[in-house]
Amino acid sequence: MREELITLRGIHKWYGDYHALREVDLTIGRGEFFSLLGPSGCGKTTLLRTIAGFEEIGEGVMLIDGKDMRRVPANERPTNMVFQSYAIFPHLSVAQNVAFGLRKDSRSKDEKAKAVAEALEMVGLGGYGSRSAHALSGGQRQRVALARALILKPKVLLLDEPLSALDKNMREHMQVELIKLQRQVGITFILVTHDQEEALVMSDRIAVMFEGQIGQLADPETLYRRPVSKRVASFIGKMNFFSAKVLEVAEGSIQLDVVGLGAATVPPEQAPGGCEFGETIVGIRPETLTILYEGEQTDRRVVEGVVDEVVYYGDMTYYDVRIAGVEKPLTISMKNLISRPVLNVGEKTRVAWEERALVILKD
Ligand code: ATP
Repeated sequence: MREELITLRGIHKWYGDYHALREVDLTIGRGEFFSLLGPSGCGKTTLLRTIAGFEEIGEGVMLIDGKDMRRVPANERPTNMVFQSYAIFPHLSVAQNVAFGLRKDSRSKDEKAKAVAEALEMVGLGGYGSRSAHALSGGQRQRVALARALILKPKVLLLDEPLSALDKNMREHMQVELIKLQRQVGITFILVTHDQEEALVMSDRIAVMFEGQIGQLADPETLYRRPVSKRVASFIGKMNFFSAKVLEVAEGSIQLDVVGLGAATVPPEQAPGGCEFGETIVGIRPETLTILYEGEQTDRRVVEGVVDEVVYYGDMTYYDVRIAGVEKPLTISMKNLISRPVLNVGEKTRVAWEERALVILKD
């Protein structure tokens, strides 16, 4: 476990009558890459801004590095924010833009120039100092904004959708650059994003938020493999849902009857959000299912169905397969192999599945 840098306990925030943050509890470690992920309006920017000190909290405790932040103004907090819009001054040079971060610093001109050069070097813009900022590409502007924030050596860098203005290729490139940069400087990054893939790729841990609350807080793999609820599961990737009944909860195993799949036994780890008797929902990810080709044997469980839809992606194919007793067809993703012809709509098929891929979900 990392050393704790930020502690939020029972944080509430109201805008007038609107309850924007509800009982948010979390700790963020020193040097951690932490993401706040969620749909538009869930409160992730609000939470980031309360950490920055741009918004006051209504209730709760906020500590950074052991200090109570309640009465500490934004400019005295050990945090610095990189905005979505970058706020680059086009009429200034790259170096002047970065030096703007130091305007209240008492260092000598030479020392400042050295710090600017170092910060630019850090973000891969060494030698760009005298260029005019208006001639920069989106990715370069992003780096200038990062250099300007990093030059103050904050303990925490707050990033509000920093990559959303970039095109897909540049965004993917900058994701890798940001991870490298974060490892290199070793400070805590808190990223706000609504892009689940971005959060999975970049983060040590992710808090998924809905309506001002944290739905789940976990590392990317746990979040993907063991979502606690239907909501989290559908926000992070694709998942097939089944109605099911919990028949028995014994030590070390849960007995289920899953509509369309039949009886199943799973260990309690596969009910990460807890489990109760009676009606429930069970999820299974498309890539854990396999289309069986004619004559193909398996020791996994098998369900029969009919291909309802085929979506071909080149390297993969997504199949929707209708199975008896289930209204919504099952989605299966298959890697395309030369030895495996792509099935056609209307073909009968068998689908292999495994009990260990099931997750019991809260509604
Ligand atoms: P997005 O991805 O769209 O930026 P978000 O998750 O960051 O969404 P917030 O910006 O934190 O969401 O806003 C959360 C809720 O609080 C929204 O419903 C928003 O309308 C409301 N809100 C935000 N700022 C204010 C404000 N200054 N006054 C009133 N309501 C606000």
